[in-house]
Order: sequence, then structure tokens, then C-alpha cells
Amino acid sequence: MWQVLSGCVSVSANLSRRGISYEVGCTRCGAEVETINHAIFRCPPARQVWALAHVPVGPLHFPTDSVYANVDHFLGSTNLGSQVQIFPWLMWYIWKARNARVFENQMDRPDEIVRLAQGEANSWLQAQVDDEVEEVPSHPIVPSIRSCGRPASLPGVYPGYRCFVDGSWKKTDVYAGAGWVCTSSQGLSPILGATNYQRSLSPLHAEIEAFIWAMRCMIGHDFRYVAFFSDCSDLVEMVSSPHDWPAFATYLEGIKLDREEFSSFSLSYISRNANVKADSLARQARLSPLHVLFVNNFPPNWLT
Ligand SMILES: [Zn+2]
Repeated sequence: MWQVLSGCVSVSANLSRRGISYEVGCTRCGAEVETINHAIFRCPPARQVWALAHVPVGPLHFPTDSVYANVDHFLGSTNLGSQVQIFPWLMWYIWKARNARVFENQMDRPDEIVRLAQGEANSWLQAQVDDEVEEVPSHPIVPSIRSCGRPASLPGVYPGYRCFVDGSWKKTDVYAGAGWVCTSSQGLSPILGATNYQRSLSPLHAEIEAFIWAMRCMIGHDFRYVAFFSDCSDLVEMVSSPHDWPAFATYLEGIKLDREEFSSFSLSYISRNANVKADSLARQARLSPLHVLFVNNFPPNWLT
């Protein structure tokens, strides 16, 4: 939220002002200038989300032309929006949907955005309760004993694609990072992906978000035969036995739907040593001071 209020979101108008080549208009509705306020509050798809989430709207109080007034709509205890506890998640998912549209030409349905925000808000609230009960983090950064499972063996020739994915998370950082490397045995050069997003609750959240992003990128490339690899054994277990991980239900339902896009899908555990490229991409993205989103055959210049 501080990013919205301090103007640190990479909307078209900001990128253009900083001299980064980009159009100033809104990709989604064609508005002449895409400000932060426009992207999060005023753009028609954003307004649909606010309406579906039952946020009280009206021409005079919300959403207005002032980003401060719009955020205050939820913060002021006597304001109409003060009952909407999930508003930070709505803002976040509206922003993610905007990026999916701009960078991947992918349209997210407003009701789906509300559902995601609601699910994420619920797991966050649940995590606050769990933290009070249990002081020790349930998903420590140090690999647990379960991480010692036998790594998948990787033959040199394989059908379709392999996607090595990793998430990077540090409690003190603003962003979490995601990275993936996609290879095929047909001799094509590997495709790399890296991005960062607002740091989520735990390293495991970062891993699962990285995996979801990698899946969506593979779908976007129309790669239908993909074997995914992760060095996070909890992620592998979670995807194979989703019912054992109710706190991650929202993510896992999304993964289940995305899986249907693949003609062949697998997710296997590999050692950290076998995943250094994806790890490096995720870590560099995490450390970037700005939002980054990168998919290409060459490493991004901020990585070299
Ligand atoms: Zn717009």
C-alpha cells in the first residue's frame, strides 16, 4: 500500500516520466494516461472488482480522482469502506491482473480477482492466529528433513519442455522473487523468466507463487508438455496432496485449474545444486529495488 501512496508503482505514466520507453496510456481501457489511481481504482476493470467486492461506491466518495482519498475510504474508521478488511488484497490483485494484461495479454475475470483476494486475506488472517499458537515458524528456511527425498533423475533426451522454478524470500526485503528456466531437448536456447512481487507471508508462499507464475508463463508460451522441477519439497508435496495443506487451498485450487491446460504435467523435486539458475534469477529479482518482470532467451541486463 505504501507503494501506491508514494507513487512507486510502475504504471505507464510513471515509467514514461522516468524516461523508460513506454506508452503513457492505459492498455486496458484506452484512457490517455495511466496513473496509479487510474490503474488501481478508476479503470473500468478495477471498478468492477471494487463493485463485486461490495465496496460502497458513489460518484462523490469512491473512487475519486485522489489516490489518497481512495485509500482513506478504507482507513478512516467512520468512512463507508472501513468494513472492507480485504481491501489491501484487492488492491494487490487488481495490480497483478493489470500486469497480466499488460505483459502477458491475459485477462483475469473480476470475480476471480475478488475470489483470490478473499482467499489470500483469509489465509493471512488464519496465519496470524496460527502464529499466536505456535512461535516456531511452520516452514523454516533451513531445509527440513523431508527435503532429503531422492531427487528426480533427469535423462538427457525428453519430450516437451522442462521448467526449473524457484522462489526467493527474505523477511527483511520488500519483494519476493521468482525465477524459472525452461529448456527443451530439441536444441532451442533456454527461456528465462524472473519477476518480483510484494513479499508474501513465508518462503513457502514465495515458492508457490513462483510456481504459479512459471505455470502461467508456460501456458502463455503454449508449451503443453511440461515437466516442472523445484528444490522445495514442501511445494512438491503440496501439489501432489493438496488436501493436506488447507492453508494454501486458494493457491492449490488455482494450480489445479492451470494444470488442466497441460497435455502432460509433472512436478518433481530436485536438489538445490541442480536448480542454481532458477535460484539465481529469483534471488536477483528479489534484490531489485524496482518491480521487474522479464521473460526472454537472454539474461536481463540487471542480472549481469
Ligand atoms: Zn484504464
